[in-house]
Amino acid sequence: MDGMYEREQKTLDDALAHLKDVRSGAPVCAELFETVVSEYKLLLRHQQKLIKITDKASTNMITGQKEQINELKNIVHYDVLTGIYNRRYMEENLRRVIKLVSRSGGVLSVLMLDIDYFKKYNDTYGHSQGDTCLRSVAEAITDSLSRAEDFAARYGGEEFAVVLPHADAKGAKMIAEKIIANINALNIPHKKSEAAKHVTVSIGLTTGNVLHGQSYESYLKRADEALYMSKNNGRNQYTYIDFV
Ligand code: GH3
Ligand code: MG
Ligand code: MG
Repeated sequence: MDGMYEREQKTLDDALAHLKDVRSGAPVCAELFETVVSEYKLLLRHQQKLIKITDKASTNMITGQKEQINELKNIVHYDVLTGIYNRRYMEENLRRVIKLVSRSGGVLSVLMLDIDYFKKYNDTYGHSQGDTCLRSVAEAITDSLSRAEDFAARYGGEEFAVVLPHADAKGAKMIAEKIIANINALNIPHKKSEAAKHVTVSIGLTTGNVLHGQSYESYLKRADEALYMSKNNGRNQYTYIDFV
């Protein structure tokens, strides 16, 4: 900063010295007065430019920070392979949903889904095609949901969870049927499956009146019990059990 505004400082010193002379009776020097005015105008213009530059810089910084925050959210909330919510986000959100729904004394339905004979699928078609299959199944699941508050997540390897706040057993069964139909309609060949000629899923579904203090784990556990029944009964189907 040294040397900056030297000229302006000198003009100011001259003007102050001249002011003293004027007070002592000397005539006003119009030229010096003009110099002071033009310097002042220049300084104003500089200042306006600086304000514009700093404004732009801080806007860029805020935009950059917002992008970084969004990127972090993507990492924290979404599953990298399928792009749908991950288990951590699902559990957090399910906990929130239970709190909210319990206040209004409403119902909640939870589904657990598992791809049938997926190990055999990988062994037959390769891991990379297995990944593609997981993406298609995830998309078919999310496409089967209708309400904004419904959400699906990848729970683990080839397992998914679906949360339907305020959905009663009848509504949730319709969603389970839709998911099964949509996955069958994908018609992804699976010659080693014992359930069909294509990729299928088994679903466990539970519905309950949400009470204060219930744990999300208990809903997942109950849905998992129902899923186990679907597996035992031949797969490519859903089983409903009451949440008790
Ligand atoms: P079941 O019908 O009883 O569910 O049998 P399954 O073969 O589907 O179940 P199992 O638990 O024996 O196998 C799950 C397979 O899912 C094994 C594992 O390699 C595969 N898997 C898990 N995560 C991924 C993944 O991210 N990509 C791929 N391609 N495969 C995965
Ligand atoms: Mg499994
Ligand atoms: Mg499986």
